Amino acid sequence: MRLSRYFLPVLKEAPAEAEIVSHKLMLRAGMIQQLSAGIYSWLPLGFAVLKKVEQIVREEMNAAGAIEILMPTIQPADLWRESGRYEAYGKEMLRIKDRHEREMLYGPTNEENVTDIFRRHVRSYRQLPLNLYHIQWKFRDEIRPRFGVMRGREFLMKDAYSFDLDYEGAKRSYDNMFVAYLRAFKRMGLTAIPMQAETGPIGGNMSHEFQILAQTGESAVYYDAAFEQIDFNAPDLDPEMLRSLYAAADEKHDPASCPVPPERLRSGRGIEVGHIFYFGTKYSKPMGAVVMGPDGTEVPVEMGSYGIGVSRLVGALIEAFHDEKGIIWPESVAPFRIGLVNLRPDDAATTAMAEELYMRFTAMGVDVLLDDRDERAGVKFATMDLIGLPWQVTVGPRGVKEDKVEIKSRRTGEREEVTPVELLERFA
Ligand code: ATP
Ligand code: MG
Ligand code: MG
Ligand code: MG
Repeated sequence: MRLSRYFLPVLKEAPAEAEIVSHKLMLRAGMIQQLSAGIYSWLPLGFAVLKKVEQIVREEMNAAGAIEILMPTIQPADLWRESGRYEAYGKEMLRIKDRHEREMLYGPTNEENVTDIFRRHVRSYRQLPLNLYHIQWKFRDEIRPRFGVMRGREFLMKDAYSFDLDYEGAKRSYDNMFVAYLRAFKRMGLTAIPMQAETGPIGGNMSHEFQILAQTGESAVYYDAAFEQIDFNAPDLDPEMLRSLYAAADEKHDPASCPVPPERLRSGRGIEVGHIFYFGTKYSKPMGAVVMGPDGTEVPVEMGSYGIGVSRLVGALIEAFHDEKGIIWPESVAPFRIGLVNLRPDDAATTAMAEELYMRFTAMGVDVLLDDRDERAGVKFATMDLIGLPWQVTVGPRGVKEDKVEIKSRRTGEREEVTPVELLERFA
């Protein structure tokens, strides 16, 4: 992509309403634009990151055996009356009427919807286990939308739903998602601590939230210092072991019954990026989602649901990875891998080398953003630092004479002079 042809409306200053660094930087870097309270348009740079996050989540869900579908955003109220949640959900649910005065709603989650799909098609325990997921926009009329996409009203969520014959099966499905979550967050460079959680309006009896530690987090979190020793990169993370370590957020933490001695108890703030629930037959029973068991009797199916805040993660990633100059994207979610700066578009030799590198990278399938604008060097470097691409490559007249370009790591700030050939090899 050429910056001269791209749409990157960067701002010099963050608008005053932005309270936290990720919201400020998303606005300044031209990633999002607010349309209404808690409702955002995703501009090209923000959309590119959103798609990267979504794709990591999708790959980890598929690797864990979940199957992707797409359910609608608008649902009929009657479906929610079957589970009893239409009245129970309260004001967070956006209720709509169609032209025939039929009551509809913009889905805040899809348990009823997926249970309806299941009950129409699955009859036998032989078709289990089954895990269906989608990545779809949700609407919750949050009383206080804030912090940009972190607490939006319209937001993108991945929600998976597992179906099993019995508790043992449901527990295996839960563990499977538990581990997939740790892997997905790790791939984004994030460490998310699994914490015991309240089940809220989803209901149920076993539940964990995945919290990223950050000063600006909205949840108060408490955890065993032993978590600081855990290698979240280990290939065989044991969910049982992780759940045996104490960690709890907000209301779930009770100082009186906390098993961790005070000197080992850490407290801080967390951003809830995922939440998983086992709720058994809470929906299958009232909605008649039953299967024939091996003994020929019909039983309501055992279910769980598993959410990841895909759009919230974009903000959470910035909270975790930034400095005073701007964003520092981990490679796995970066909108482009390389920012290629042509320092002097008015110099023929410089431009020839920058264009050649741009063409080569593009042919290699390396995502590169070429700054070919007629701007001062200072402006170009400030833009690159702000938008946080992992690698900055600078082509200038002095280097070109010696067949050299400069490569800088956004994360470490380290600079190195290399030949164009060496540069291309590095990204091959
Ligand atoms: P919160 O406690 O932040 O209100 P929640 O517990 O109500 O979130 P869940 O029902 O557990 O949310 O939904 C699953 C995931 O969806 C959450 O873990 C979070 O990452 C994301 N999410 C929930 N509400 C929002 C929102 N208003 N804006 C962005 N993401 C959200
Ligand atoms: Mg909520
Ligand atoms: Mg919550
Ligand atoms: Mg939650």
